[in-house]
Amino acid sequence: MGRCLSRARDRGADLVRASVSCTSDGGRNGMDGEPTHARYDFMILGGGIGGLVTGALLARAGARVLLVERHSALGGYAHSFRVDGYEFCYQVQYLMGCEPSGPMPRMLARLGLEREIGFNTLDPVGYDVVTCGDLEFRIPATSEAFCRALAARYPEHAEAIANYFARVEAVFAQADGYRRVVRPRDVLLAPWRHRALLRHMGTTVADVFDRLGLPEELRFILAGQAGNLASGPREASFLLHAGMQAAYGRSAAYPKRGLGHMVEAIARRIEEAPGCRVLRGVEVTAIHRAPRGRAIASVSTSAGRFSAGRYISNLDPRRTCALIGLPERAGPRYRYSDAVFTLYLGFEGVELADHGFGRRNFWIHSTRDIDREFDGLIREHRHDQPWIFLSTPSLLSDPGVLCAPDQASMVMLTFVSYARWQALAREPAALERAATQLEEVFLGALQRRFGLTTAHLRVRHRETPIDVVSRLAPPEGNVYGARLTPESYNLRRTTSRTRFANLDLVGATSAYPGVMPITVASMALVDRLLAARA
Ligand SMILES: Cc1cc2nc3c(=O)[nH]c(=O)nc-3n(C[C@H](O)[C@H](O)[C@H](O)COP(=O)(O)OP(=O)(O)OC[C@H]3O[C@@H](n4cnc5c(N)ncnc54)[C@H](O)[C@@H]3O)c2cc1C
Repeated sequence: MGRCLSRARDRGADLVRASVSCTSDGGRNGMDGEPTHARYDFMILGGGIGGLVTGALLARAGARVLLVERHSALGGYAHSFRVDGYEFCYQVQYLMGCEPSGPMPRMLARLGLEREIGFNTLDPVGYDVVTCGDLEFRIPATSEAFCRALAARYPEHAEAIANYFARVEAVFAQADGYRRVVRPRDVLLAPWRHRALLRHMGTTVADVFDRLGLPEELRFILAGQAGNLASGPREASFLLHAGMQAAYGRSAAYPKRGLGHMVEAIARRIEEAPGCRVLRGVEVTAIHRAPRGRAIASVSTSAGRFSAGRYISNLDPRRTCALIGLPERAGPRYRYSDAVFTLYLGFEGVELADHGFGRRNFWIHSTRDIDREFDGLIREHRHDQPWIFLSTPSLLSDPGVLCAPDQASMVMLTFVSYARWQALAREPAALERAATQLEEVFLGALQRRFGLTTAHLRVRHRETPIDVVSRLAPPEGNVYGARLTPESYNLRRTTSRTRFANLDLVGATSAYPGVMPITVASMALVDRLLAARA
Protein backbone atom coordinates (compact mmCIF):
# COMPACT_ATOMS: atom_id res chain seq x y z
CA MET A 1 0.00 0.00 0.00
CA GLY A 2 2.84 2.45 0.87
CA ARG A 3 2.65 4.80 -2.03
CA CYS A 4 -0.81 3.54 -2.89
CA LEU A 5 -2.31 3.79 0.55
CA SER A 6 -0.34 6.71 1.85
CA ARG A 7 -1.26 8.81 -1.19
CA ALA A 8 -4.75 8.77 0.22
CA ARG A 9 -6.86 11.72 1.16
CA ASP A 10 -9.09 11.87 4.16
CA ARG A 11 -12.00 12.80 1.88
CA GLY A 12 -15.13 10.94 2.82
CA ALA A 13 -13.53 9.95 6.07
CA ASP A 14 -16.39 11.22 8.23
CA LEU A 15 -18.02 8.65 10.36
CA VAL A 16 -21.10 7.20 8.76
CA ARG A 17 -22.89 6.16 11.88
CA ALA A 18 -26.17 5.51 10.11
CA SER A 19 -24.63 2.95 7.81
CA VAL A 20 -22.63 1.17 10.45
CA SER A 21 -23.61 -2.39 11.06
CA CYS A 22 -22.30 -5.72 12.15
CA THR A 23 -23.22 -8.67 10.00
CA SER A 24 -22.13 -11.35 12.38
CA ASP A 25 -23.06 -12.86 15.69
CA GLY A 26 -19.76 -11.48 16.98
CA GLY A 27 -18.32 -14.89 17.60
CA ARG A 28 -21.14 -16.64 19.42
CA ASN A 29 -22.16 -18.84 16.49
CA GLY A 30 -19.31 -18.02 14.18
CA MET A 31 -21.41 -18.06 11.00
CA ASP A 32 -19.99 -15.81 8.30
CA GLY A 33 -22.53 -13.21 7.27
CA GLU A 34 -25.14 -13.95 9.92
CA PRO A 35 -26.88 -10.64 10.70
CA THR A 36 -27.24 -9.25 14.20
CA HIS A 37 -28.20 -5.88 15.62
CA ALA A 38 -24.73 -4.95 16.86
CA ARG A 39 -23.39 -1.69 15.46
CA TYR A 40 -19.82 -0.40 15.44
CA ASP A 41 -18.25 2.89 14.43
CA PHE A 42 -14.78 1.40 14.25
CA MET A 43 -13.43 -2.06 13.73
CA ILE A 44 -9.82 -2.50 14.84
CA LEU A 45 -7.86 -5.35 13.32
CA GLY A 46 -5.21 -6.56 15.76
CA GLY A 47 -4.77 -5.84 19.46
CA GLY A 48 -1.11 -4.79 19.63
CA ILE A 49 -0.30 -1.59 21.49
CA GLY A 50 -1.36 0.48 18.43
CA GLY A 51 -4.77 -1.19 18.14
CA LEU A 52 -5.42 -1.10 21.88
CA VAL A 53 -4.50 2.54 22.47
CA THR A 54 -6.44 3.68 19.39
CA GLY A 55 -9.46 1.59 20.35
CA ALA A 56 -9.42 2.72 23.99
CA LEU A 57 -9.19 6.41 23.08
CA LEU A 58 -12.03 6.07 20.59
CA ALA A 59 -14.16 4.14 23.08
CA ARG A 60 -13.46 6.80 25.71
CA ALA A 61 -14.68 9.42 23.23
CA GLY A 62 -18.00 7.58 22.97
CA ALA A 63 -17.45 5.62 19.75
CA ARG A 64 -18.58 2.01 19.42
CA VAL A 65 -15.48 -0.04 18.89
CA LEU A 66 -14.95 -3.67 17.93
CA LEU A 67 -11.40 -4.97 18.33
CA VAL A 68 -10.38 -8.36 16.96
CA GLU A 69 -7.16 -10.05 18.09
CA ARG A 70 -5.97 -13.50 16.98
CA HIS A 71 -4.03 -14.26 20.15
CA SER A 72 -5.75 -15.07 23.45
CA ALA A 73 -3.74 -12.30 25.16
CA LEU A 74 -3.90 -8.63 24.16
CA GLY A 75 -0.93 -6.36 23.59
CA GLY A 76 0.95 -8.01 20.70
CA TYR A 77 4.67 -7.75 21.43
CA ALA A 78 3.68 -6.00 24.68
CA HIS A 79 1.47 -8.84 25.96
CA SER A 80 2.37 -10.67 29.15
CA PHE A 81 2.24 -14.34 30.11
CA ARG A 82 2.86 -16.36 33.26
CA VAL A 83 5.08 -19.37 33.88
CA ASP A 84 4.81 -20.99 37.31
CA GLY A 85 3.91 -17.73 39.04
CA TYR A 86 6.44 -15.53 37.19
CA GLU A 87 4.95 -12.87 34.92
CA PHE A 88 6.93 -11.90 31.81
CA CYS A 89 6.23 -9.30 29.16
CA TYR A 90 6.75 -10.95 25.82
CA GLN A 91 9.20 -8.37 24.48
CA VAL A 92 8.88 -4.87 25.86
CA GLN A 93 11.43 -4.37 28.63
CA TYR A 94 11.46 -0.60 29.16
CA LEU A 95 9.61 2.46 27.95
CA MET A 96 10.41 5.92 26.62
CA GLY A 97 8.19 8.99 27.06
CA CYS A 98 7.12 8.34 30.67
CA GLU A 99 8.34 11.66 32.11
CA PRO A 100 5.41 13.57 33.74
CA SER A 101 4.74 15.71 30.64
CA GLY A 102 5.55 12.83 28.27
CA PRO A 103 3.28 11.03 25.82
CA MET A 104 2.70 7.94 27.99
CA PRO A 105 1.24 9.86 30.99
CA ARG A 106 -0.73 12.03 28.52
CA MET A 107 -2.28 8.96 26.91
CA LEU A 108 -3.08 7.43 30.31
CA ALA A 109 -4.67 10.71 31.47
CA ARG A 110 -6.90 10.73 28.40
CA LEU A 111 -8.05 7.26 29.43
CA GLY A 112 -8.48 8.23 33.09
CA LEU A 113 -5.72 5.79 34.08
CA GLU A 114 -3.13 8.28 35.32
CA ARG A 115 -3.63 7.34 38.98
CA GLU A 116 -3.78 3.60 38.33
CA ILE A 117 -0.58 3.39 36.31
CA GLY A 118 2.65 4.93 37.52
CA PHE A 119 6.23 4.44 36.37
CA ASN A 120 9.56 3.66 38.00
CA THR A 121 12.55 5.42 36.47
CA LEU A 122 15.58 3.29 35.63
CA ASP A 123 18.94 4.17 37.20
CA PRO A 124 19.81 7.74 35.99
CA VAL A 125 23.53 7.02 36.43
CA GLY A 126 23.27 4.11 33.98
CA TYR A 127 19.87 2.97 32.73
CA ASP A 128 21.63 0.81 30.14
CA VAL A 129 25.07 -0.75 30.50
CA VAL A 130 27.02 -1.40 27.31
CA THR A 131 29.75 -3.97 27.69
CA CYS A 132 32.28 -5.94 25.67
CA GLY A 133 34.98 -7.88 27.49
CA ASP A 134 36.67 -5.49 29.92
CA LEU A 135 35.00 -2.41 28.45
CA GLU A 136 31.90 -1.30 30.32
CA PHE A 137 30.03 1.97 29.95
CA ARG A 138 26.95 3.03 31.89
CA ILE A 139 24.67 5.18 29.75
CA PRO A 140 23.47 8.07 31.93
CA ALA A 141 20.07 9.68 31.59
CA THR A 142 20.02 12.93 29.55
CA SER A 143 22.13 13.77 26.53
CA GLU A 144 24.06 16.38 28.52
CA ALA A 145 25.19 13.85 31.14
CA PHE A 146 26.02 11.27 28.46
CA CYS A 147 28.01 13.87 26.50
CA ARG A 148 29.87 15.00 29.64
CA ALA A 149 30.73 11.43 30.67
CA LEU A 150 32.11 10.60 27.21
CA ALA A 151 34.06 13.86 26.91
CA ALA A 152 35.64 13.20 30.32
CA ARG A 153 36.70 9.71 29.20
CA TYR A 154 37.83 10.70 25.69
CA PRO A 155 38.91 14.39 26.02
CA GLU A 156 40.76 14.30 22.69
CA HIS A 157 37.38 13.73 20.95
CA ALA A 158 35.35 16.21 23.00
CA GLU A 159 34.46 18.36 19.99
CA ALA A 160 33.25 15.43 17.88
CA ILE A 161 31.27 14.09 20.85
CA ALA A 162 29.58 17.48 21.34
CA ASN A 163 28.80 17.62 17.61
CA TYR A 164 27.23 14.14 17.77
CA PHE A 165 24.93 15.09 20.67
CA ALA A 166 24.04 18.39 18.98
CA ARG A 167 22.82 16.37 15.99
CA VAL A 168 20.88 13.95 18.21
CA GLU A 169 19.13 16.78 20.03
CA ALA A 170 18.40 18.73 16.84
CA VAL A 171 16.75 15.70 15.25
CA PHE A 172 14.72 15.03 18.39
CA ALA A 173 13.63 18.67 18.68
CA GLN A 174 12.65 18.90 15.02
CA ALA A 175 10.58 15.73 15.37
CA ASP A 176 8.92 17.55 18.30
CA GLY A 177 10.34 15.01 20.72
CA TYR A 178 8.12 12.32 19.16
CA ARG A 179 5.09 14.32 20.27
CA ARG A 180 3.69 13.98 16.78
CA VAL A 181 4.49 11.90 13.78
CA VAL A 182 6.43 14.13 11.39
CA ARG A 183 4.78 13.92 8.00
CA PRO A 184 6.36 14.68 4.63
CA ARG A 185 4.02 17.65 4.28
CA ASP A 186 5.32 19.19 7.52
CA VAL A 187 8.89 18.94 6.32
CA LEU A 188 8.20 20.15 2.80
CA LEU A 189 6.13 23.13 3.97
CA ALA A 190 8.75 24.27 6.49
CA PRO A 191 12.10 22.85 5.40
CA TRP A 192 14.08 25.42 7.42
CA ARG A 193 12.36 24.21 10.60
CA HIS A 194 13.29 20.62 9.80
CA ARG A 195 16.85 21.17 8.65
CA ALA A 196 18.38 18.44 10.82
CA LEU A 197 15.71 15.96 9.72
CA LEU A 198 16.31 16.74 6.05
CA ARG A 199 20.06 16.67 6.50
CA HIS A 200 19.97 13.19 8.01
CA MET A 201 17.10 11.77 5.98
CA GLY A 202 19.18 9.23 4.04
CA THR A 203 21.87 8.89 6.65
CA THR A 204 22.94 5.84 8.63
CA VAL A 205 24.44 5.93 12.11
CA ALA A 206 27.80 4.89 10.64
CA ASP A 207 27.65 7.81 8.16
CA VAL A 208 27.50 10.24 11.08
CA PHE A 209 30.30 8.43 12.93
CA ASP A 210 32.43 8.64 9.77
CA ARG A 211 31.76 12.35 9.29
CA LEU A 212 32.76 13.02 12.87
CA GLY A 213 35.84 10.82 12.65
CA LEU A 214 34.96 8.86 15.79
CA PRO A 215 37.31 6.07 16.86
CA GLU A 216 36.20 2.45 17.26
CA GLU A 217 35.68 2.53 21.02
CA LEU A 218 33.44 5.61 20.89
CA ARG A 219 31.46 4.19 17.99
CA PHE A 220 30.94 1.06 20.01
CA ILE A 221 29.61 2.91 23.05
CA LEU A 222 27.36 5.22 21.04
CA ALA A 223 25.92 2.30 19.05
CA GLY A 224 25.98 -0.12 21.99
CA GLN A 225 22.17 -0.03 22.26
CA ALA A 226 21.88 -0.89 18.55
CA GLY A 227 19.57 -3.75 19.49
CA ASN A 228 16.87 -1.11 20.02
CA LEU A 229 16.97 -0.75 16.23
CA ALA A 230 17.71 -4.41 15.46
CA SER A 231 20.46 -3.20 13.10
CA GLY A 232 24.13 -2.35 13.24
CA PRO A 233 25.27 1.27 12.70
CA ARG A 234 26.07 0.64 9.02
CA GLU A 235 22.41 -0.09 8.33
CA ALA A 236 20.38 1.77 10.97
CA SER A 237 18.71 5.10 10.25
CA PHE A 238 20.36 7.95 12.13
CA LEU A 239 16.96 9.64 12.56
CA LEU A 240 15.63 6.69 14.50
CA HIS A 241 18.85 6.18 16.42
CA ALA A 242 18.79 9.84 17.50
CA GLY A 243 15.11 9.74 18.42
CA MET A 244 15.47 6.65 20.56
CA GLN A 245 18.64 7.79 22.24
CA ALA A 246 17.22 11.22 23.13
CA ALA A 247 13.88 9.77 24.25
CA TYR A 248 15.36 7.04 26.47
CA GLY A 249 17.78 9.65 27.84
CA ARG A 250 14.82 11.75 28.97
CA SER A 251 13.02 8.86 30.56
CA ALA A 252 13.80 5.16 30.60
CA ALA A 253 11.02 3.75 32.73
CA TYR A 254 8.93 0.71 33.62
CA PRO A 255 5.31 0.48 34.85
CA LYS A 256 5.26 0.01 38.63
CA ARG A 257 2.69 -2.79 38.33
CA GLY A 258 4.14 -4.31 35.18
CA LEU A 259 3.36 -4.07 31.49
CA GLY A 260 0.64 -6.73 31.65
CA HIS A 261 -1.29 -4.60 34.11
CA MET A 262 -0.93 -1.51 31.90
CA VAL A 263 -2.04 -3.35 28.77
CA GLU A 264 -5.06 -4.93 30.46
CA ALA A 265 -6.09 -1.58 31.98
CA ILE A 266 -6.05 0.00 28.50
CA ALA A 267 -8.01 -2.96 27.08
CA ARG A 268 -10.64 -2.60 29.83
CA ARG A 269 -11.38 0.91 28.55
CA ILE A 270 -12.72 -0.75 25.40
CA GLU A 271 -14.29 -3.82 27.00
CA GLU A 272 -16.21 -1.80 29.58
CA ALA A 273 -17.42 0.98 27.26
CA PRO A 274 -21.05 0.77 26.17
CA GLY A 275 -21.47 -0.76 22.70
CA CYS A 276 -17.81 -1.85 22.50
CA ARG A 277 -16.35 -5.31 22.31
CA VAL A 278 -12.99 -7.07 22.27
CA LEU A 279 -12.75 -10.48 20.64
CA ARG A 280 -9.66 -12.44 21.69
CA GLY A 281 -8.53 -15.49 19.77
CA VAL A 282 -10.26 -14.30 16.59
CA GLU A 283 -8.26 -13.97 13.39
CA VAL A 284 -8.85 -11.59 10.49
CA THR A 285 -8.90 -13.68 7.31
CA ALA A 286 -9.93 -11.20 4.59
CA ILE A 287 -10.69 -7.51 4.12
CA HIS A 288 -13.42 -6.86 1.53
CA ARG A 289 -13.63 -3.77 -0.65
CA ALA A 290 -16.91 -2.12 -1.55
CA PRO A 291 -17.98 -3.10 -5.08
CA ARG A 292 -17.23 0.35 -6.40
CA GLY A 293 -15.11 3.10 -4.99
CA ARG A 294 -12.24 3.16 -2.60
CA ALA A 295 -13.77 1.95 0.62
CA ILE A 296 -13.72 -1.14 2.77
CA ALA A 297 -17.09 -2.86 3.07
CA SER A 298 -16.49 -5.61 5.62
CA VAL A 299 -13.94 -7.87 7.25
CA SER A 300 -14.02 -11.67 7.51
CA THR A 301 -12.68 -13.26 10.65
CA SER A 302 -12.55 -16.73 12.17
CA ALA A 303 -15.67 -15.69 14.13
CA GLY A 304 -17.68 -14.34 11.22
CA ARG A 305 -17.96 -11.30 9.01
CA PHE A 306 -18.21 -7.79 10.43
CA SER A 307 -18.72 -4.33 9.05
CA ALA A 308 -18.19 -0.90 10.61
CA GLY A 309 -18.07 2.73 9.60
CA ARG A 310 -14.32 2.76 9.61
CA TYR A 311 -11.51 0.22 9.86
CA ILE A 312 -8.16 0.57 11.55
CA SER A 313 -5.54 -2.05 10.83
CA ASN A 314 -2.89 -2.75 13.45
CA LEU A 315 -1.56 -5.51 11.21
CA ASP A 316 1.56 -5.13 9.14
CA PRO A 317 0.72 -2.78 6.21
CA ARG A 318 1.93 -5.28 3.59
CA ARG A 319 -0.16 -8.01 5.25
CA THR A 320 -3.15 -5.64 5.32
CA CYS A 321 -2.63 -5.09 1.62
CA ALA A 322 -2.57 -8.85 0.99
CA LEU A 323 -5.75 -9.36 3.03
CA ILE A 324 -7.50 -6.80 0.79
CA GLY A 325 -6.30 -8.80 -2.21
CA LEU A 326 -4.22 -5.98 -3.68
CA PRO A 327 -1.30 -7.14 -5.83
CA GLU A 328 2.06 -6.91 -4.10
CA ARG A 329 3.30 -4.17 -6.42
CA ALA A 330 0.43 -1.92 -5.24
CA GLY A 331 1.65 -2.19 -1.68
CA PRO A 332 4.41 -0.54 0.26
CA ARG A 333 7.94 -1.69 -0.44
CA TYR A 334 10.03 -2.36 2.61
CA ARG A 335 12.10 -5.20 3.95
CA TYR A 336 11.29 -6.66 7.34
CA SER A 337 13.48 -6.42 10.40
CA ASP A 338 15.04 -9.62 11.73
CA ALA A 339 13.65 -12.15 14.19
CA VAL A 340 14.42 -12.77 17.85
CA PHE A 341 15.20 -15.66 20.20
CA THR A 342 14.25 -15.04 23.83
CA LEU A 343 14.95 -16.82 27.10
CA TYR A 344 12.79 -16.05 30.15
CA LEU A 345 14.26 -17.01 33.52
CA GLY A 346 12.83 -17.13 37.04
CA PHE A 347 15.15 -17.23 40.08
CA GLU A 348 14.43 -17.89 43.74
CA GLY A 349 16.46 -17.31 46.89
CA VAL A 350 19.18 -15.20 45.27
CA GLU A 351 19.74 -11.44 45.45
CA LEU A 352 20.32 -10.28 41.88
CA ALA A 353 21.67 -7.00 43.29
CA ASP A 354 24.62 -9.00 44.68
CA HIS A 355 25.51 -9.91 41.08
CA GLY A 356 25.50 -6.36 39.75
CA PHE A 357 21.86 -6.14 38.65
CA GLY A 358 19.58 -3.26 39.45
CA ARG A 359 17.25 -0.85 37.67
CA ARG A 360 19.27 -1.17 34.47
CA ASN A 361 19.55 -3.31 31.35
CA PHE A 362 22.68 -4.82 29.84
CA TRP A 363 23.82 -4.90 26.24
CA ILE A 364 26.49 -7.61 26.18
CA HIS A 365 28.59 -7.61 23.03
CA SER A 366 31.18 -10.12 21.88
CA THR A 367 33.05 -7.61 19.68
CA ARG A 368 33.31 -3.83 19.46
CA ASP A 369 32.49 -4.02 15.77
CA ILE A 370 28.70 -4.17 16.03
CA ASP A 371 28.17 -4.43 12.26
CA ARG A 372 30.37 -7.51 12.19
CA GLU A 373 28.48 -8.85 15.19
CA PHE A 374 25.12 -8.46 13.42
CA ASP A 375 26.52 -10.07 10.27
CA GLY A 376 27.70 -12.98 12.41
CA LEU A 377 24.24 -13.39 13.95
CA ILE A 378 22.07 -12.97 10.89
CA ARG A 379 24.11 -13.99 7.88
CA GLU A 380 26.58 -16.46 9.36
CA HIS A 381 24.28 -17.85 12.09
CA ARG A 382 27.09 -17.63 14.60
CA HIS A 383 25.62 -17.91 18.06
CA ASP A 384 28.56 -19.31 19.99
CA GLN A 385 29.15 -15.84 21.51
CA PRO A 386 26.11 -13.83 20.54
CA TRP A 387 25.17 -10.26 21.24
CA ILE A 388 22.75 -10.45 24.20
CA PHE A 389 20.25 -7.99 25.62
CA LEU A 390 19.52 -8.70 29.30
CA SER A 391 16.81 -7.17 31.46
CA THR A 392 15.54 -7.92 34.98
CA PRO A 393 11.85 -6.90 34.96
CA SER A 394 11.17 -7.80 38.60
CA LEU A 395 13.82 -5.22 39.62
CA LEU A 396 12.21 -2.58 37.39
CA SER A 397 8.62 -2.98 38.61
CA ASP A 398 7.60 -2.55 42.25
CA PRO A 399 8.76 -5.50 44.39
CA GLY A 400 6.54 -8.57 44.51
CA VAL A 401 4.49 -7.57 41.46
CA LEU A 402 5.86 -9.86 38.73
CA CYS A 403 6.86 -12.68 41.10
CA ALA A 404 7.08 -13.32 44.86
CA PRO A 405 9.40 -11.01 46.87
CA ASP A 406 12.08 -13.72 47.25
CA GLN A 407 12.02 -14.40 43.52
CA ALA A 408 13.42 -12.49 40.53
CA SER A 409 12.83 -12.56 36.81
CA MET A 410 15.18 -12.06 33.88
CA VAL A 411 14.80 -11.84 30.10
CA MET A 412 17.67 -12.49 27.67
CA LEU A 413 17.43 -12.20 23.90
CA THR A 414 19.38 -12.04 20.69
CA PHE A 415 18.59 -11.54 17.01
CA VAL A 416 18.49 -14.44 14.60
CA SER A 417 17.72 -15.13 10.97
CA TYR A 418 14.10 -16.15 10.50
CA ALA A 419 14.89 -18.04 7.28
CA ARG A 420 17.42 -20.16 9.16
CA TRP A 421 14.95 -21.02 11.96
CA GLN A 422 12.26 -21.78 9.43
CA ALA A 423 14.63 -24.26 7.79
CA LEU A 424 15.45 -25.78 11.20
CA ALA A 425 11.74 -26.13 11.97
CA ARG A 426 11.36 -28.66 9.14
CA GLU A 427 13.12 -31.10 11.45
CA PRO A 428 11.85 -30.80 15.04
CA ALA A 429 14.98 -32.45 16.51
CA ALA A 430 17.23 -29.89 14.76
CA LEU A 431 15.08 -27.03 16.02
CA GLU A 432 15.22 -28.39 19.56
CA ARG A 433 18.99 -28.83 19.33
CA ALA A 434 19.57 -25.28 18.08
CA ALA A 435 17.29 -23.78 20.73
CA THR A 436 18.93 -25.76 23.54
CA GLN A 437 22.40 -24.76 22.34
CA LEU A 438 21.49 -21.09 22.29
CA GLU A 439 19.94 -21.40 25.74
CA GLU A 440 23.18 -22.92 27.07
CA VAL A 441 25.20 -20.10 25.50
CA PHE A 442 22.98 -17.56 27.29
CA LEU A 443 23.34 -19.36 30.63
CA GLY A 444 27.11 -19.61 30.12
CA ALA A 445 27.30 -15.84 29.53
CA LEU A 446 25.29 -15.28 32.70
CA GLN A 447 27.76 -17.30 34.73
CA ARG A 448 30.86 -15.74 33.14
CA ARG A 449 29.74 -12.13 33.20
CA PHE A 450 27.72 -12.06 36.46
CA GLY A 451 28.80 -15.16 38.38
CA LEU A 452 25.17 -16.31 38.37
CA THR A 453 24.74 -20.08 38.15
CA THR A 454 21.61 -22.14 37.56
CA ALA A 455 21.53 -23.20 41.24
CA HIS A 456 18.67 -20.79 41.98
CA LEU A 457 16.95 -21.11 38.63
CA ARG A 458 13.28 -22.13 39.01
CA VAL A 459 11.81 -21.23 35.63
CA ARG A 460 13.34 -21.49 32.19
CA HIS A 461 11.15 -20.75 29.19
CA ARG A 462 12.21 -19.95 25.64
CA GLU A 463 10.55 -18.54 22.56
CA THR A 464 12.05 -19.21 19.15
CA PRO A 465 11.09 -17.14 16.09
CA ILE A 466 8.78 -20.02 15.16
CA ASP A 467 6.94 -19.60 18.49
CA VAL A 468 6.73 -15.83 17.92
CA VAL A 469 5.05 -16.36 14.54
CA SER A 470 2.61 -18.87 15.96
CA ARG A 471 1.62 -16.39 18.71
CA LEU A 472 1.53 -13.07 16.85
CA ALA A 473 1.97 -13.83 13.14
CA PRO A 474 4.54 -11.10 12.34
CA PRO A 475 5.59 -11.59 8.70
CA GLU A 476 9.01 -13.30 8.59
CA GLY A 477 9.06 -13.16 12.39
CA ASN A 478 10.00 -9.47 12.19
CA VAL A 479 10.65 -7.64 15.46
CA TYR A 480 10.09 -3.99 14.55
CA GLY A 481 8.05 -4.14 11.34
CA ALA A 482 9.86 -2.46 8.44
CA ARG A 483 13.64 -2.63 8.70
CA LEU A 484 14.87 0.49 10.49
CA THR A 485 17.00 1.77 7.63
CA PRO A 486 17.11 5.22 6.00
CA GLU A 487 15.13 3.70 3.08
CA SER A 488 12.15 3.10 5.39
CA TYR A 489 12.49 6.34 7.34
CA ASN A 490 12.24 8.93 4.61
CA LEU A 491 9.70 11.30 3.15
CA ARG A 492 7.85 8.44 1.44
CA ARG A 493 7.37 6.30 4.50
CA THR A 494 4.11 4.51 5.23
CA THR A 495 1.80 6.59 7.39
CA SER A 496 -1.61 6.01 8.94
CA ARG A 497 -3.42 7.22 5.82
CA THR A 498 -4.47 4.88 3.05
CA ARG A 499 -6.05 5.22 -0.36
CA PHE A 500 -9.23 3.78 1.12
CA ALA A 501 -11.53 6.45 2.53
CA ASN A 502 -12.41 4.40 5.61
CA LEU A 503 -9.19 2.49 6.32
CA ASP A 504 -6.30 3.69 8.47
CA LEU A 505 -3.13 2.01 9.67
CA VAL A 506 -1.58 2.06 13.11
CA GLY A 507 1.48 0.27 14.49
CA ALA A 508 5.25 0.06 14.21
CA THR A 509 5.55 0.33 10.43
CA SER A 510 3.05 3.16 10.01
CA ALA A 511 4.60 5.13 12.88
CA TYR A 512 7.94 4.62 14.58
CA PRO A 513 8.56 1.35 16.43
CA GLY A 514 8.29 1.14 20.21
CA VAL A 515 5.41 1.52 22.64
CA MET A 516 5.75 5.28 23.10
CA PRO A 517 6.10 6.25 19.41
CA ILE A 518 3.16 3.99 18.51
CA THR A 519 1.15 5.57 21.32
CA VAL A 520 1.92 9.04 19.92
CA ALA A 521 0.81 7.92 16.46
CA SER A 522 -2.37 6.39 17.90
CA MET A 523 -3.24 9.63 19.69
CA ALA A 524 -2.63 11.60 16.49
CA LEU A 525 -4.83 9.23 14.48
CA VAL A 526 -7.65 9.42 17.03
CA ASP A 527 -7.47 13.23 17.06
CA ARG A 528 -7.75 13.26 13.27
CA LEU A 529 -10.70 10.85 13.30
CA LEU A 530 -12.52 12.74 16.05
CA ALA A 531 -11.90 16.07 14.32
CA ALA A 532 -13.42 14.63 11.14
CA ARG A 533 -16.42 13.54 13.18
CA ALA A 534 -16.98 16.96 14.80
C1 LIG B 1 12.58 -8.16 20.89
C2 LIG B 1 11.81 -6.89 21.02
C3 LIG B 1 12.11 -6.03 22.06
C4 LIG B 1 11.41 -4.83 22.17
N1 LIG B 1 11.67 -4.02 23.22
C5 LIG B 1 10.97 -2.89 23.36
C6 LIG B 1 11.14 -2.08 24.51
O1 LIG B 1 11.89 -2.42 25.42
N2 LIG B 1 10.43 -0.91 24.58
C7 LIG B 1 9.56 -0.53 23.60
O2 LIG B 1 8.94 0.54 23.72
N3 LIG B 1 9.38 -1.29 22.51
C8 LIG B 1 10.05 -2.45 22.38
N4 LIG B 1 9.84 -3.24 21.30
C9 LIG B 1 9.01 -2.72 20.20
C10 LIG B 1 7.55 -2.84 20.53
O3 LIG B 1 7.33 -4.02 21.25
C11 LIG B 1 6.76 -2.88 19.25
O4 LIG B 1 7.17 -1.84 18.37
C12 LIG B 1 5.27 -2.69 19.53
O5 LIG B 1 4.84 -3.46 20.63
C13 LIG B 1 4.52 -3.08 18.28
O6 LIG B 1 3.18 -2.74 18.44
P1 LIG B 1 2.18 -2.77 17.23
O7 LIG B 1 0.99 -1.98 17.61
O8 LIG B 1 2.87 -2.39 15.97
O9 LIG B 1 1.66 -4.24 17.09
P2 LIG B 1 2.15 -5.72 17.39
O10 LIG B 1 2.70 -5.84 18.74
O11 LIG B 1 2.92 -6.25 16.25
O12 LIG B 1 0.73 -6.39 17.41
C14 LIG B 1 -0.02 -6.72 16.27
C15 LIG B 1 -1.16 -7.59 16.77
O13 LIG B 1 -1.92 -8.02 15.64
C16 LIG B 1 -2.28 -9.37 15.88
N5 LIG B 1 -2.58 -10.00 14.61
C17 LIG B 1 -1.69 -10.35 13.64
N6 LIG B 1 -2.34 -10.89 12.59
C18 LIG B 1 -3.66 -10.89 12.93
C19 LIG B 1 -4.83 -11.31 12.26
N7 LIG B 1 -4.80 -11.83 11.02
N8 LIG B 1 -6.03 -11.16 12.88
C20 LIG B 1 -6.09 -10.61 14.13
N9 LIG B 1 -5.01 -10.19 14.81
C21 LIG B 1 -3.81 -10.33 14.20
C22 LIG B 1 -1.09 -9.97 16.58
O14 LIG B 1 -1.43 -11.15 17.26
C23 LIG B 1 -0.67 -8.83 17.49
O15 LIG B 1 -1.30 -8.90 18.74
C24 LIG B 1 10.45 -4.48 21.22
C25 LIG B 1 10.10 -5.37 20.20
C26 LIG B 1 10.75 -6.58 20.13
C27 LIG B 1 10.31 -7.56 19.10
